[in-house]
Amino acid sequence: MVASRLKDVLGFAMLPSALNLIDEIIAGAGGKRPAVFLDYDGTLTPIVSHPEDAWLPDSMRQTLRSLAARVPVAILSGRDLDDVRGRVLVDGLVYAGSHGFDIAGAGGLRRELGAAYLPALDTAETELREALDEIPGAQLERKHFSVAAHYRNVNEDDTSKVARAVDEVAAKHRELRRISGKKVYELLPDIDWNKGKAVLWLLETLELERGNAFPIFIGDDRTDEDAFSALAKRGVGILVSDQPDVTAASYWLKDPEEVECFLRELIARVPRR
Ligand SMILES: [Mg+2]
Repeated sequence: MVASRLKDVLGFAMLPSALNLIDEIIAGAGGKRPAVFLDYDGTLTPIVSHPEDAWLPDSMRQTLRSLAARVPVAILSGRDLDDVRGRVLVDGLVYAGSHGFDIAGAGGLRRELGAAYLPALDTAETELREALDEIPGAQLERKHFSVAAHYRNVNEDDTSKVARAVDEVAAKHRELRRISGKKVYELLPDIDWNKGKAVLWLLETLELERGNAFPIFIGDDRTDEDAFSALAKRGVGILVSDQPDVTAASYWLKDPEEVECFLRELIARVPRR
C-alpha cells in the first residue's frame, strides 16, 4: 500500500509541470515556432457526466483565438468533426474529428477515412444498442465513424458487462476494432490510423516542419498517447491528468484550467504572426 502510494507520488514527480517549465519547453524548440495540437474533452473542457454538456468556456475560446493569431492550432477529438467544430467555434483552426478520421481546415484542407465502414458501423450500432439496453446507466452514442459505449454512469459491478457486450459485437465485425478511452469503449474502422498518424499527416500536409514549427500536443486520454509517441522525437507531449499514469508524454498539466494558463503563457512568449 505504502509502496504503491509512493510510486504514485513518484510518478507525478517524474513528469514535470509544463507550466513551471514553459521556458525550458520553448528553449527546447531551438528557435522554432510552436504548432499547438489540442484534444477537446478533458483538455479544453472538464470531464462531465454527460459528454453533450461539455461546452467550451468563453475564456478558453478567447485564449484559442489569441493563440491562433500567433501559431498554427489544431483540435483533435474523438467527437464528430461537426460536433467539435461547433463547440470550439474559432475560425482558422484545423479540426480533426473521429480520432483523426475526419479532418478539415482552411484552404480546402480535407481528409476523410472510413466511409466504406459505415454499413458495418450501422449494424454494430443496432447490435450494441440492444446489448446495452440491459445494463443500467450504459449509454450508446453513435458518432459518424464510430459507435461508443459510455460506462461513466454504470455501477462498478456492471462495467465488465459493458466490455463483454462491446467485445461480442466487435467479434462479429472483423472490419471494426475496439479502442478504450475514459469510461468509454469505441468501435471504429480497423484502419491503421490514429491521432498520432493524424498529427504527422498534418505536419507533412501543412508543411509545418518545413516551415520551422515545433509541435506541442496536449491531451488527457489514452487515445492521445499515440500522438505523444509520434511526437516523442520531434516535439513535446503534455498529459493533462490529476492522477499519475503511464504515459509517453514528457510534461503534465493538472486540468483544463492549467492548460489555459499554459496557453496564455505561451501566447505571452510568442509574437504575433
Ligand atoms: Mg480527452
